Amino acid sequence: MKIISINAGSSSLKFSLFNMDDKKVIASGLFERIGIDGSSYTIKYNGEKIKTEAELATHTDAVKILLDKLVTLNIIKSLDEIDGVGHRLVHGKDKYKESCLITDEVVNDLIAFKDFAPLHNPANVLGIEAFREVLPNVPMVGVFDTAFHQTMDEEAYLYPVPYSWYKEHGVRKYGFHGTSHRYIAKTISEKLGRDDLRIISCHVGNGGSITAIKDGKCVDTSMGFTPLAGIMMGTRSGDVDPSIITYVMEQEGLNAKEVIDDLNKKSGLLGLSEISSDMRDIVSAMDSEDEEEKKAKARRAFLKYTRTVTNYIAEYYVILGGADVICFTAGLGENSEPFRKKVCENLACLGVKLDSEANKVMGEFKKISSDDSAIPVYVVPTDEELMIALDTLKLIS
Ligand code: ADP
Repeated sequence: MKIISINAGSSSLKFSLFNMDDKKVIASGLFERIGIDGSSYTIKYNGEKIKTEAELATHTDAVKILLDKLVTLNIIKSLDEIDGVGHRLVHGKDKYKESCLITDEVVNDLIAFKDFAPLHNPANVLGIEAFREVLPNVPMVGVFDTAFHQTMDEEAYLYPVPYSWYKEHGVRKYGFHGTSHRYIAKTISEKLGRDDLRIISCHVGNGGSITAIKDGKCVDTSMGFTPLAGIMMGTRSGDVDPSIITYVMEQEGLNAKEVIDDLNKKSGLLGLSEISSDMRDIVSAMDSEDEEEKKAKARRAFLKYTRTVTNYIAEYYVILGGADVICFTAGLGENSEPFRKKVCENLACLGVKLDSEANKVMGEFKKISSDDSAIPVYVVPTDEELMIALDTLKLIS
């Protein structure tokens, strides 16, 4: 049985083709700059990689080439081998609490909810429409980023603002990265052989969110109405006092959208360090023999970043009434030794103790806390594509 996992962006389409018998990726790749000059695609399969420029006016062009290549490169014998297509969908508001078969209603809802994810929902629809055109008889499944967080109770998802904003306009916490947090909960539960865990899942990449999970269900999460909330990120501020917005509008002569844009694109690590949005650059600036000023800039960004992550872990430790495990995942969580070290040092008062040797791990499942740590800490590489394929398999079977 073979399933394709799709992540469609406004000008891109990422795919992974899984053989579900052994859950292994047979081919993966990316179609880029769809509808823009200079479009191209990359396909990795069988230890090989091809990268080709191609005319990609629409997502349908990309899907046609993708399916054609899967056959001509002998990755599959015919398109009949594809049993299902799973789509990563971003915003399902409070209607979609789990993955579902894609119907006209789902497509209409994605369009209806577009104000909640203006960059993502319309792009997700383009991906669905392209596959509907080219593979009309293959069942498709939608896997929402927001779905896992639908188990939060009112106390967690409401903001302390006029209740009518929630009732009339849907202003509440939705949360994101749900598919990743669900994968982390499933993986660590399987590895430890327990379903009743209190997990603090730290998905920290360029974007990042921390989620409190109990018995496999989300209790609270750090992202909010949009992915701008929560911890500090690569270029996003995370939580700030909203009065800053009107103050900066007046001081800098900007409109509200421009200030929000700065909070999304010019803040976080990039904004505070004035060096880079990438933690690797920040760490090397801190360690280098560079001039003191650059070191200080990098250091203040690193300390603020790790502080905001620590704060959420501490908050969720209290909400969960303790923690059975802390998991780190995504770009920084899986790869950044200094980032994990600092966060764990900050948590020393909870009895967290790191094993420095184990903490050198990159991109592999590993326990990184010492045996006498009060809370075990693990690196758990995330795999949203596999989660999408597994949901698809379940729903089409
Ligand atoms: P996204 O949120 O865009 O999916 P990723 O999860 O791929 O991002 O994370 C990308 C970020 O992870 C980079 O910006 C970088 O800060 C960090 N990162 C990736 N590899 C390393 C590494 N080896 N050491 C430190 N940080 C890393």
